[in-house]
Amino acid sequence: MQSLFGRSLHIRTIDTGSCAVCESEIRLLAAPHYDLHRLGFFFTPSPRHADLLLVTGPAVRAFDQAVKKTYLAMPEPKIVVAVGACPLGGVYSEDAFVHGSLEEVLPVDVFIPGCPPSPLALLQGLLVAVGRLAEKVDALSFVDDEAGTGEW
Ligand code: SF4
Repeated sequence: MQSLFGRSLHIRTIDTGSCAVCESEIRLLAAPHYDLHRLGFFFTPSPRHADLLLVTGPAVRAFDQAVKKTYLAMPEPKIVVAVGACPLGGVYSEDAFVHGSLEEVLPVDVFIPGCPPSPLALLQGLLVAVGRLAEKVDALSFVDDEAGTGEW
């Protein structure tokens, strides 16, 4: 994991129609009190530089293309984290313009529940996501070894 990502992991956020409260909790992570950067997490505006896609808001169908394009632009290995009750369906799950879950659009690795989740819950979810990402790296490494294509 460290040999692949060094000491940092870059996060691209995407808002698929949230009320903006989840975003304000995410913004708090960079404040000195939580100091997300001490853990090596950084936000990036470019999906091409991102390892982790952090999604907020209900999975509004109108955002399908933007969400998929962002995900596809990210290099492998990558991980998707859904923030809040909205991507799980939340109060919008019966709405015709919203998917019941973000999983209908993207392969979500970690859901962080809450409305909104607290900054500490967000931090915990991001650390869980790093563990999942390490598992993906190990799995890719195993496949490479099986195929005899060399080392990572
Ligand atoms: S989960 Fe709650 S706080 Fe977050 S975007 Fe949805 S309604 Fe807003």
